[in-house]
Amino acid sequence: MSDVNAILEHVDANIDASLGRLFDLLRIPSISTDPAYRDDCRKAGQWLVDDLNGMGFEASLRDTPGHPMVVAHYAGPEGSPHVLFYGHYDVQPADPLEKWNTPPFEPQLVDGEDGIKRIYARGANDDKGQLMTFIEASRAWINETGGLPFSVTVLCEGEEESGSPSLDPFLEANREELSRAVALVCDTGMWDPDTPAISTRLRGLAHEEVTIIGPRIDLHSGFYGGAAHNPIHVLTSILAEMRDADGHITIPGFYDGVPELPEATAAQWQGAQF
Ligand SMILES: [Zn+2]
Repeated sequence: MSDVNAILEHVDANIDASLGRLFDLLRIPSISTDPAYRDDCRKAGQWLVDDLNGMGFEASLRDTPGHPMVVAHYAGPEGSPHVLFYGHYDVQPADPLEKWNTPPFEPQLVDGEDGIKRIYARGANDDKGQLMTFIEASRAWINETGGLPFSVTVLCEGEEESGSPSLDPFLEANREELSRAVALVCDTGMWDPDTPAISTRLRGLAHEEVTIIGPRIDLHSGFYGGAAHNPIHVLTSILAEMRDADGHITIPGFYDGVPELPEATAAQWQGAQF
């Protein structure tokens, strides 16, 4: 426990340097969806590699068909658990630019009216802030105790905001190197400004392409309206039938293999405010 207190004091004493590093990363406009920022994405990845190498990690930038991956390893004590921190260095586009009070890639530390300081910059809360929280915690731990209490792998991609097309193939190709670790996704939020949270469940998404074939030509509504199926009505009725009144998905087999939520968790979610 004394270790933890010393580490927390170390964090407080070095908060300005930590913010300085986060702001350096935030200044890189690593917008993955826009090819004009391709070099900036690489620069953000390289920035992380350099920072992690400087902390004693073995870090490298790995090319993919899209933006590169950052992979870094730090060995903990023999036999200790292995944790993988996943995050992403790419950000959403910043438009509409006129909606910003300050330039999106010039981070600002602002005192809120509620007394809470806030960082304004594109990517500050998705995901550079969260990612650097894990990295800064590791740095403080290493600086204070000379190492980490468990083995850590850091995996950062640069395509999370564009659907992660390279992530699955990369994980598959590097299965040996990246498996056998408990993954912590550093891409979630706090419960509220005073309450850190460890999210244990996230929803996924699925997408399908549906083709509905309708009349070859425009049909006169006076003659055919209501009699001939309009593809937009077919589509809306398909979509409407996919969920029941309680929000359950009605597609047969959709919930196969999905465990029930524990009672307490379900109750917490129902009480949560968003
Ligand atoms: Zn994110």
